[in-house]
Amino acid sequence: MLKLMRSPLKYVQGQGALLHVYEETKNLGKSFLFICSNSGYKSCHEKLLKSFEGTEAKIYFEIFGGISSIGEVEKMRAIVKEKGIDCVAAVGGGSAIDTAKATAHYENLPVLIIPTVVATDAPCTGLSVIYHNDGSFSNYIFYPKNPDAVIVDSDIIANAPAKFLVAGMGDALGTYFEARACEKAKAPSLENGGITKSAMALCRLCYDTLLEDGYKALKACENKVVTPALESIIEANTYLSGVGADNGGLAVSHSVYNGFTALPECESTMHGSVVAFGTLAQLILENAPEEEFYEVMEFCASVGLPVTLKELGVTDKERVHIAAENACAEGESIHNMIGDVTPEQLYNALIVADALGQEYLNLN
Ligand SMILES: [Zn+2]
Repeated sequence: MLKLMRSPLKYVQGQGALLHVYEETKNLGKSFLFICSNSGYKSCHEKLLKSFEGTEAKIYFEIFGGISSIGEVEKMRAIVKEKGIDCVAAVGGGSAIDTAKATAHYENLPVLIIPTVVATDAPCTGLSVIYHNDGSFSNYIFYPKNPDAVIVDSDIIANAPAKFLVAGMGDALGTYFEARACEKAKAPSLENGGITKSAMALCRLCYDTLLEDGYKALKACENKVVTPALESIIEANTYLSGVGADNGGLAVSHSVYNGFTALPECESTMHGSVVAFGTLAQLILENAPEEEFYEVMEFCASVGLPVTLKELGVTDKERVHIAAENACAEGESIHNMIGDVTPEQLYNALIVADALGQEYLNLN
């Protein structure tokens, strides 16, 4: 297997970054369609207008329907054709981002990503999750390239609800451990390539940054202010975690997410929260040293990521069997583990992670 490394062409981050959007992306075209979430439009459109003020570029804003569905992508493609758009941009969270990526891909245009929350790996990766018009999962689209530019304004992130930052730290927590498992098993990355030393270095830095700055960043976000620690975590959640997962691969944590989202009681639990708990289960499966396990658990508890099943919304152990079965479905990344994992082994690990989590919460 050939080694492979991919990333966005350009990554820009900092306070007031939105005021520099034109300057940083003028090479991408003369007309831009900004596909916005409701809140993304509210928080960003004035700054974007300002950034393009006095330039020749034309900009259009479109508030999208809320899910990255086939119908929504078709609607945006029609607008792109009608207005003669050169560059498609996303302003919002994962769904706005996935809609913009798909629209740009099918119209053969560059894509610019402006995340307004740092809750998932969506901004920097080269894939989208697409849903049916009724909201049920349809498919993944893997693109031949990652986004042309990702621009994160730290002021916008500091003013977004802190729960998104926490969920993003959960998603980022899986990155190093999942990549390490793939590397050990010589499994391919998400981009279907061999894992580079560069990718492993980014994944390790992602984990170290979480431990070093996660809690301090949470305090900054809760108080709606930007500090160096918050800047570090924005980068960890967006760039290190996204590029790390893309080039490092997924294992147990993300399969656990796919397993639990099929349960109605977990519907409102955020992606990163389940990924964090899935990481604890992975460490049990790997029989990781106790010190490492508790380092991860302590981090989760300190920032409010779940360490028990109850915190995920699960109170009936029977339901864990269903989640474990789902997580081990064919094609799931859990099969990247050395020696593979059966639903029963995963169930056992989830129960032990939960028991240790309960004990930890009682003692602390
Ligand atoms: Zn993820």
